[in-house]
Amino acid sequence: MSHKYLCPNCKTNRSRFNLIKQIAEPIKVDPKTGEITGDYKHEETALFHVQYQGPDYRVQCGVCGLIEEENSFIQYAKYDPL
Ligand SMILES: [Zn+2]
Repeated sequence: MSHKYLCPNCKTNRSRFNLIKQIAEPIKVDPKTGEITGDYKHEETALFHVQYQGPDYRVQCGVCGLIEEENSFIQYAKYDPL
């Protein structure tokens, strides 16, 4: 599914964007040293460890540099169609 984008900040860019993939990597850190003591690649996170629920990616305007959720660009394109 494809969406039209329009930057809500500069209001002119409809064609140049950066897709920023957000990959959440759960880690465990030693509170005293800051050293990473677990990366959960081979084990489950603890039950109380909150999972990342945010968007898979964000969008950056390739003209003015604004970074927002994809939906902001989609909604603005709907609000101000070509
Ligand atoms: Zn822009």
